[in-house]
Amino acid sequence: MCSLEQFKVDLKALTEDITPLEYNLDDSYFTALDGAEIQSGSLHVSGSIRKAVGFFELQVNISGTVQVPCDRCLDMMAQPIETELSQVVKLIPYGVEEDSNRQDDIIYVDENEGILDIAWFIYESIALAVPIQHVHQPGDCNDAMMRMLEEHSAARSSDADASEAIDPRWEKLLKLKVKSEE
Ligand SMILES: [Zn+2]
Repeated sequence: MCSLEQFKVDLKALTEDITPLEYNLDDSYFTALDGAEIQSGSLHVSGSIRKAVGFFELQVNISGTVQVPCDRCLDMMAQPIETELSQVVKLIPYGVEEDSNRQDDIIYVDENEGILDIAWFIYESIALAVPIQHVHQPGDCNDAMMRMLEEHSAARSSDADASEAIDPRWEKLLKLKVKSEE
């Protein structure tokens, strides 16, 4: 089991101006977080936390692959991930500042605790780096599933044709009705 403790950074204990960060993520990290989008992958995270005046700057580079379901055949596929982010973090005394004064793009950490947990920050960065459309390389999709989908869509389009054409029995009745009205 991956310990999520290693992702907790005690900001108040940082002594250097720049503190390097390094993590190797595998399936146990995704299992420990139990997020909805990604359950499996292998990635390397390198980065740093820079101490500045009044704030911290978190910077991470993430590269590797995650397993996500293919849009076309729904089988799992390896999606390469390559992303780089920086994030401003501020310590604030708990309850002092109104929430409305806070900026959405800054992570605020309660000054009394001073603990920045970057486990979810990394997870969300990975999830955002997965392209909206992700499919297997041509020919790599699950054949059985592709055949099923093709049959399903063929059946659906022939249903649509049938509903547009008039049922022959109705056609006869309509003709009779027209005749009787003449
Ligand atoms: Zn596929």
